[in-house]
Amino acid sequence: MCAEPLVERKANRIECAAACGFVNYDNPIPVAAIVVEYEGKIVFAHNSAWQRDFYGIITGFVDHREGPEDCAVREVKEELNLDAGPPTLIGVYPFQQLNQIIIGYHVTATGNITLNEELDRYKLVAPEECVAWPTGTGYALRDWLRTQGIEPEMIKLR
Ligand SMILES: [Zn+2]
Repeated sequence: MCAEPLVERKANRIECAAACGFVNYDNPIPVAAIVVEYEGKIVFAHNSAWQRDFYGIITGFVDHREGPEDCAVREVKEELNLDAGPPTLIGVYPFQQLNQIIIGYHVTATGNITLNEELDRYKLVAPEECVAWPTGTGYALRDWLRTQGIEPEMIKLR
């Protein structure tokens, strides 16, 4: 606002170094992450933009004025062309690296999988064979698996 630099005097608060009062809130962006159960297995997908051979659960940004549950159902339809049943909230997780809040849902979905252009391949994995990873979407997957009495192996990301 006044062209002075920004400073972090208090943790997680970026503000003007001078006295103009500007605060750069830069609030985290909400992202729905969906554990999709399909024919008794969990859907993992590889994003076309990912260089590495890594499969994740389905995710998407909550649209303008959209609720997170509606987002979850919409993303499952858009990315997999599956019809999701009512989403069940798993939990809410920080993902500091991308300044996101991950809202984890489980859905049971039906139909025939057709990937949209964002995804180039997928896998179906039995719940007891799933592994999870230590970021927001991985914690959502882990916590859903725990509701099924399964404690997944946590793999390291680098
Ligand atoms: Zn200022």
